[in-house]
Amino acid sequence: MASFLIIDPGHGGIDPGGGTNQLFKEKDLTLQISLYQYRRFRELNIPVVLTRTTDLTVTSDQRASIVKNSGAKYCISNHINSGGGRGAEAIYSNHSNATFAKTILDELEAEGMPARRVYTKTLPSNPQSDYYFMHRETGNVETIILEYGFADNNLDATFLQANWTKLAEATVRGFAEFANRPYQPPRPPNPGTNPPAPPDNWKREAVDWLFQEDLLTNEEWRTKYDQSLPLWAEAILLKRLYEKLSQNQAGQNSVEVIPFAKTDPSTNSSNTLLSYSSSTSQKPRPSLVQNESKSKETENQTLDSARHFRPWEDYV
Ligand SMILES: [Zn+2]
Repeated sequence: MASFLIIDPGHGGIDPGGGTNQLFKEKDLTLQISLYQYRRFRELNIPVVLTRTTDLTVTSDQRASIVKNSGAKYCISNHINSGGGRGAEAIYSNHSNATFAKTILDELEAEGMPARRVYTKTLPSNPQSDYYFMHRETGNVETIILEYGFADNNLDATFLQANWTKLAEATVRGFAEFANRPYQPPRPPNPGTNPPAPPDNWKREAVDWLFQEDLLTNEEWRTKYDQSLPLWAEAILLKRLYEKLSQNQAGQNSVEVIPFAKTDPSTNSSNTLLSYSSSTSQKPRPSLVQNESKSKETENQTLDSARHFRPWEDYV
């Protein structure tokens, strides 16, 4: 399929570009941005080619010729500005309109790079003719020159250095919008290349509790806090829970409530009773309960504290 878009990484080889500073060379940053965009446009099924893919010297004539003969409808020529100023600029041809340039500049602005201006420039000697060869010599390919920011402005330079990927993506988004092509944000990085952030403690505790209670037993699940269990696994978990509750229910029928003071005089609380299962098959598991006069209050307190800390409520 013929390419729809051609991306031109400005400069290259013996020409580092004027948008060069101590942090980066314009030819390198424009290549990084362009290669990123090339990959993204392919992901979005937008046919795309590049004028260069490496640190190659490309003359103005060669560059314009590659674009003109690419068969593409549109061209984005990526550059970094210099000469005093702040923010991004988009320059369009005198023979087209500002829509393409403006749509993309708006996206760069939304990503945090100030939009300086969208403009067109003609030759002083011939107001019909574009000033820049990328507009003048590229035939019917609608070309914009995109200056992502000023290399000689500290704010722009540090922002470009830290956020060039976001700005490259903003251009992809803007182009998709302009060309009316479906846009999907980039996929998250592959697991392993960028380890996920450690989970909140309550997530780990919640999953650990399932193991502690033998509701989950396969250790593979222990670290998969944010994943869903398959239906069969959920069914097994519910079955185990049901069996556990049934067992407890059977045990509770034979519980004897013994006044605590009679079995352990060391406690000072006369309200406290000790209850435990009288089942001989299980080790007695003591639990503290309150006498009748306090039980309602305790129940309310328990409910209150449960309401106060239920971080999972928003998630399940
Ligand atoms: Zn340049």
